[in-house]
Amino acid sequence: TPLDKIRNFSIIAHIDHGKSTLADRLIQRTGGLTEREMSAQVLDNMDIEKERGITIKAQTVRLDWKGYVLNLMDTPGHVDFAYEVSRSLAACEGALLVVDAAQGVEAQTLANVYQSIEHDHEIVPVINKIDLPAAEPEKVRAEIEDIIGLDASNAILASAKSGIGIDEILDAIVERIPAPKGDASAPLKAMLVDSWYDPYLGVVILVRVMAGVLKKGQEIAFMAGGTRHLVDRVGCFRPKIEQLTELGAGEIGFITAQIKEITETRVGDTITDAKKPAAEPLPGFKEVQPVVFCGLFPTDANDFEKLRESISKLRLNDASFSFEMETSAALGFGFRCGFLGLLHLEIIQERLTREYDLDLITTAPSVVYHIHLAHTKNEDARVIDLHNPADMPDPTRIESIEEPWIEATIYVPDEYLGSILKLCQDRRGIQKDLTYVGGRAQLKYELPLNEVVFDFYDRLKSISRGYASFDYHQIGYREGDLVKMSILVNDEAVDALSMIVHRAGAETRGRGMCERLKDLIPRHMFKIPIQAAIGGKVIARETIAALRKDVTAKCYGGDASRKRKLLDKQKEGKKRMREYGNVSIPQEAFIAALRMG
Ligand code: GDP
Ligand code: MG
Repeated sequence: TPLDKIRNFSIIAHIDHGKSTLADRLIQRTGGLTEREMSAQVLDNMDIEKERGITIKAQTVRLDWKGYVLNLMDTPGHVDFAYEVSRSLAACEGALLVVDAAQGVEAQTLANVYQSIEHDHEIVPVINKIDLPAAEPEKVRAEIEDIIGLDASNAILASAKSGIGIDEILDAIVERIPAPKGDASAPLKAMLVDSWYDPYLGVVILVRVMAGVLKKGQEIAFMAGGTRHLVDRVGCFRPKIEQLTELGAGEIGFITAQIKEITETRVGDTITDAKKPAAEPLPGFKEVQPVVFCGLFPTDANDFEKLRESISKLRLNDASFSFEMETSAALGFGFRCGFLGLLHLEIIQERLTREYDLDLITTAPSVVYHIHLAHTKNEDARVIDLHNPADMPDPTRIESIEEPWIEATIYVPDEYLGSILKLCQDRRGIQKDLTYVGGRAQLKYELPLNEVVFDFYDRLKSISRGYASFDYHQIGYREGDLVKMSILVNDEAVDALSMIVHRAGAETRGRGMCERLKDLIPRHMFKIPIQAAIGGKVIARETIAALRKDVTAKCYGGDASRKRKLLDKQKEGKKRMREYGNVSIPQEAFIAALRMG
């Protein structure tokens, strides 16, 4: 395709503003799919995505419109996947900015719009959901101008649901978004935008060719990854697979090259011709590192092998999550896993539970701390990365501990501002900025990542009844007064519940944890002390009273089938329990205890 007939664009939208619906509508209008095939949303292809209404993996589709080839690049819709978003945007020349006509501009939209502007994108504002009775398109138009600073006089009023404004959007893509540039005769430079594992095709790589030509049969080299491969398929998605013989400069499509492991394909890497390599890779490559770690253990120790297999399978499709074997005194064999964020963690955990039918115990999520060890007789001073509280060195050896910090941008309607400020303050936040834009407060806070990974987002949403929006990026490490807090049940430390906390907040956290555990652990025949401790010092304590009466006595003389049922239930219950110092702790208790109240 000649360059001037190509348009590459992505869609930027806050969650739920209608990105997927609009994408589906564009595909339908341009003939990619029939009405019947449209029944399910095409671009969100995983169950969890559908339920949570977010896009996890970027997908891309080629559309034909009035003699032009339009490549629609879908982008992930969550802060955990910010780097993938940046690469998708770097593959395009423009973006549709979709804003809900009833909700207006939100923080996530802003973060992505600014990224898009940084990539020199031409942005086409689309005010969606104008069919809603609560729609206020003129107000939203003004918001786009005031808050984002974009000219919205030519914003397109649309309803992805009822099909209003769809042709105007397609025409605007052709007219307003610039054609890609790229020298087809230069050595090949293609950006690896995304990759996933397909059971039939192996690893599929989504690329944007920046220069040169990518051909079937060509030998390619990954400049950061350092490996070479033979391209065996070149094509595009309409959204069904269509094979092509080549992709020229400016084009977006996919390749396969008999690659078995997704770990070889790094998002942002430059693909070049192995025989005629480019002199320099494309800018912007970054190695993504997991930021949140936790242990995953099977509730039933016999499921360990099954867990290993399931995790390995998931990993085939997600190079950003890491795992290594871990043993715990109490939980037995499991895996220490790393994630891009808490949502990422929840997605993996949910898929293991749902798709692989595993019962899991998740230990307290932890960020990566830098532990500065003091010089000793046998050892020089050094720094270790700690992502498991269980590996915390003896405090006497520690000189200082650093923790990662973030800068958060929060948008919140005025009436909830007070409670949000308190939340940020409680989480050791440092206020950097408070301004008003379009009747809403825009807050900038620096916060320790550790205080955010737990339930900050949930709290924010519940305090503001869903109206606050939140976005963050990491800003580096800072020293903090951090300690390891252990939880003891019947005098035995429950390693799954130990966590690293700030000293000032330790008592509150410890007390909350003990109180919750008191409610979550069933009574036993004996008294059970529950304690939170730092080193040898107990900072909080609760006691579960002993059971007075024998519960099975209720069954005494009851009919046989009822008794059987109760026994079966107990057996079922056993499977989901863990023993600590003779105390059975139900699986749910771990997860519930880790939620802060
Ligand atoms: P995404 O998170 O941005 O991908 O949003 P979705 O496309 O999944 O849409 C979120 C919700 O808004 C869904 O329930 C859609 O049916 C609904 N929706 C999307 N576009 C429109 C629209 O134009 N009008 C109305 N009334 N609802 C819409
Ligand atoms: Mg979506």
